[in-house]
Amino acid sequence: MSQGHLKVNSNSKLGREGRVGSFNLPAVDTCPGASELCLSHCYAKKGNFATRSLRVSMERSLAFSRTTHFVERMVAEIHFKRPSIVRLHSSGDFYSPEYARKWADIAAQCPGVAFCAYTRSWSMPGFNTALRALDSNMGFNLFLSVDESMGTPPDGFRLAHMRPTLERMPDSFLCPNQVQTHRNKGKFACKVCGARYVRGETYQLGEKMVKPRFGSLCAVCGGKLGSIPSVTCGDCKLCYRSPGKFKHVTFAIH
Ligand code: SF4
Ligand SMILES: [Zn+2]
Repeated sequence: MSQGHLKVNSNSKLGREGRVGSFNLPAVDTCPGASELCLSHCYAKKGNFATRSLRVSMERSLAFSRTTHFVERMVAEIHFKRPSIVRLHSSGDFYSPEYARKWADIAAQCPGVAFCAYTRSWSMPGFNTALRALDSNMGFNLFLSVDESMGTPPDGFRLAHMRPTLERMPDSFLCPNQVQTHRNKGKFACKVCGARYVRGETYQLGEKMVKPRFGSLCAVCGGKLGSIPSVTCGDCKLCYRSPGKFKHVTFAIH
């Protein structure tokens, strides 16, 4: 089972250390509760997720999720690939209560694996009971995503606040990946020696003064410049644990 639908360590934001599995579905089509704000900022419609091969793979995963053998085969795949964390829906969402209940069944059969998902499907009628079933599983870390354009979420769930700025909402931690992404905006690092450069500021490279860009050369060692590596979910794991000091999480839309 080297292929399958659960990708392990395939997403750089989730991290490549440890074993982080991910399962994704086509964005928008499987997001019945998508808000205007999330549709306008949806990262799953761009970049890597928009490549043909990933789109085809997510369509296959969607078809697989609709089959009657989905629970049994996904449990077998998780036991075989042995991820310590399974992150659902970096792209996509719980598209029906029945599909959410399938993940509750899967999580119940995979003790010792931490599951994590963020969902806007709570805003649709008929999902409450299925989402409560998911949330009642000790190993399942479910967050209801909320932004200012949405109504009030039901009580008792953990929330993922989507904010236009890095303003921490009550009883929540700020996602460290986003804090660093904001802090590092417009900065570059040499991939070899780690020297830092700021967009727009000139530096001396041999005889010339140049401005840093992706792929330009480092004045210290001649290595190439790229983005500054950020904290990954695999490093942080705050969303994959039962709540500690803070119950909720705040993300800044960028
Ligand atoms: S808080 Fe941590 S685990 Fe949660 S999304 Fe951000 S980096 Fe990942
Ligand atoms: Zn360098």
